[in-house]
Amino acid sequence: MKTYQVDENGFYGEFGGAYVPEILHRCVEVLQKTYLEVIESESFKAEYYQLLRDYVGRPSPLYYAKRLSEKYGCKMYLKREDLNHTGAHKINNTIGQILLARRMGKTRIIAETGAGQHGVATATVCALMNMDCIVYMGKTDVERQQVNVQKMKMLGATVVPVTSGNMTLKDATNEAIRDWCCHPADTFYIIGSTVGPHPYPDMVARLQSVISEEIREQLMEKEGRDYPDTLIACVGGGSNAAGTIYHYIDDERVRLILAEAGGKGVDSGESAATIQLGRKGIIHGARTLVMQSEDGQIEEPYSISAGLDYPGIGPVHANLAVKKRAAILAVDDDEALEAAFELTRLEGIIPALESAHALGTLPKIQFRPDEVVVLTVSGRGDKDIETYIAYFNTKNK
Ligand SMILES: *Cc1c(COP(=O)(O)O)cnc(C)c1O
Repeated sequence: MKTYQVDENGFYGEFGGAYVPEILHRCVEVLQKTYLEVIESESFKAEYYQLLRDYVGRPSPLYYAKRLSEKYGCKMYLKREDLNHTGAHKINNTIGQILLARRMGKTRIIAETGAGQHGVATATVCALMNMDCIVYMGKTDVERQQVNVQKMKMLGATVVPVTSGNMTLKDATNEAIRDWCCHPADTFYIIGSTVGPHPYPDMVARLQSVISEEIREQLMEKEGRDYPDTLIACVGGGSNAAGTIYHYIDDERVRLILAEAGGKGVDSGESAATIQLGRKGIIHGARTLVMQSEDGQIEEPYSISAGLDYPGIGPVHANLAVKKRAAILAVDDDEALEAAFELTRLEGIIPALESAHALGTLPKIQFRPDEVVVLTVSGRGDKDIETYIAYFNTKNK
């Protein structure tokens, strides 16, 4: 059967795989051989689902957005990942990975972070499980994301500022990989999205697939059928999108729409539209689409949203895009800001800037009046309030 899920070698079509330094080879191989058996075991599932329920607050609601539906002429449901503990979907993944790390006998957790959201989600579960936590973060990001840095420290994590390269996410990731190479025996690397060498993209997608599992049940209850006509999500590395589409990826009745960050415009030179601008290459251990110069140097992406400016993209999404299974729409900074204000005014929900990119696709899509649409609100907007206020003030001058 044709499938868009990972194959037995860790590939999605021509994307994915595990291109890691020699020293990590064994470590990655052990993870490849272990992860499925562990995360599909009854004891893992029992602990994972109990924490998702009592600690994260799942299931997250599937909310029928009446006024948004009227505006866009369809039946619009919002999957409310913004209501999770720590304010986004990232915690679904970090809980799963730390439970796996413990079962593999690891004692030390490392992570990379850009804006600090994944760092906070990792530091949170390390506090919960009483494990050592080291978070690598570009020095530039440390300076502009002070609140998240303070949160991580309060949670007991060590934040290491990285001073190589542009001192942002890509450099933090390189440093985390370097640490992992030095401590392969006792260290578990918790990656924050559907990126990195196999099995990470598949593992993170599975841990986030609780989103589509819940959508199935919730739609059955509300619509009398367990699938939507259309799914919409934003993509940075691709984890909330992967979780949203997981159980529907091979169900061609369901239209998939992914929003990437257009920044100041796809052709402006300041963009994070990796799928449209990227070329095939290898980044952080996976073959995928990468924003790179003519001679293969990774280019620094730009987006107003810190969670979307990764120069690569999950291999699952690269494959969905080149096979045309998913439609990829770029949403610019201004379109995302407008969409954030629209959701706030129509539904009383202030979304994260990343999620606002998913909402920013709505004016670009044709809907049928009876079309059932599920859009994932990946996180809440508290962290973006300064950006929203600045935009509001310039508009109302
Ligand atoms: C990190 C983040 C994203 C982007 O990450 P994905 O792995 O693409 O989901 C999107 N939304 C929010 C709220 C985030 O914090």
